[in-house]
Amino acid sequence: MTIQENQEKIKNIYKEINQINGHDHDFFFGYLTRTIASGFKKIHKGFDPSEKFSKGIAYLFGLCELCGIDLESSFLKRFPNCCPYCLASPCECYLTNKKSALNIPQRKYAEELEWKYLHFQQTLKKEERIIDFDYAANFIHKIYPLNKIYWDLFHGPEFHILKCFEELGEIQEAYSIYLSKDDSRKSDYLNQIQDEICDLFAWLISAWRLQCPNLNITEFFEKMYNGNCPSCNQEHCICKNRNNSSDMLWRKEEIENIYATLTKITSDDPRLPQLLKLYNDALLSNSHSEFKRCLKETIAFLSNSKFSLADKYVDDLDRQLQLIKEKI
Ligand SMILES: [Zn+2]
Ligand SMILES: [Zn+2]
Repeated sequence: MTIQENQEKIKNIYKEINQINGHDHDFFFGYLTRTIASGFKKIHKGFDPSEKFSKGIAYLFGLCELCGIDLESSFLKRFPNCCPYCLASPCECYLTNKKSALNIPQRKYAEELEWKYLHFQQTLKKEERIIDFDYAANFIHKIYPLNKIYWDLFHGPEFHILKCFEELGEIQEAYSIYLSKDDSRKSDYLNQIQDEICDLFAWLISAWRLQCPNLNITEFFEKMYNGNCPSCNQEHCICKNRNNSSDMLWRKEEIENIYATLTKITSDDPRLPQLLKLYNDALLSNSHSEFKRCLKETIAFLSNSKFSLADKYVDDLDRQLQLIKEKI
């Protein structure tokens, strides 16, 4: 699925609830910042940020929708097969100090970028390229190969963290200016937001790829938003708020499966009947927080160790179950 199709999918899931609750720019910006910060917190601890970054991108799509921005085409326009500053690929900004590496005068920049974009569009069309998250991640690393070198050899994720938060600040600045203008003048300021959003997306997807080099990002995102909101599991989200929705990715059927497995255990452990009762109650109440409690207790029961279920991969249930079955 392309970036554009995913933007459309997220729009369909959240369109109504966003309208009902009047979610505005600040709402999306706030959650965008929060999810990116949580993702980097995971990276810092050596964990996988995929769940947080997927949510971050969903909020980024929300912000794009409010501003009438198509992320995919804006991204290609911002990076027309070259760096928008030095106009080269790989980027040569470190040599040119963000000036053109092509020996063209500064005033010709916009023209040159436009030409490159048109040419790039034709090439993509001819090659029938699918522009998905993985294409974007690999494409950014082709233009900016130093990202990986810096990450691996010098700064770790620090430089990406710094750049993402720098871009977040610039997004907020750009949309505040945009909102303060009369409708007739708004479109003049749209480009600025568009560029900042694309820059953030580029740094974010780059960090994601560097932390998870073997992950199919597109597949992960699509599984997480598999036509439904991952929190309420509805085609059209009905979440009352997004505050407590983090990590509620377990579905009732998944809980029922684990419960069925647990009932097959023969053990004298007095905690087992308590655990089964917990499942019974949770399935009756159909409460996500109770589901999470059940799983936490199950892991504690089976492994005598505690770890956060927030680290669950969306497609990891089979592995989890296998793990549980092996313990049994
Ligand atoms: Zn450059
Ligand atoms: Zn929902």
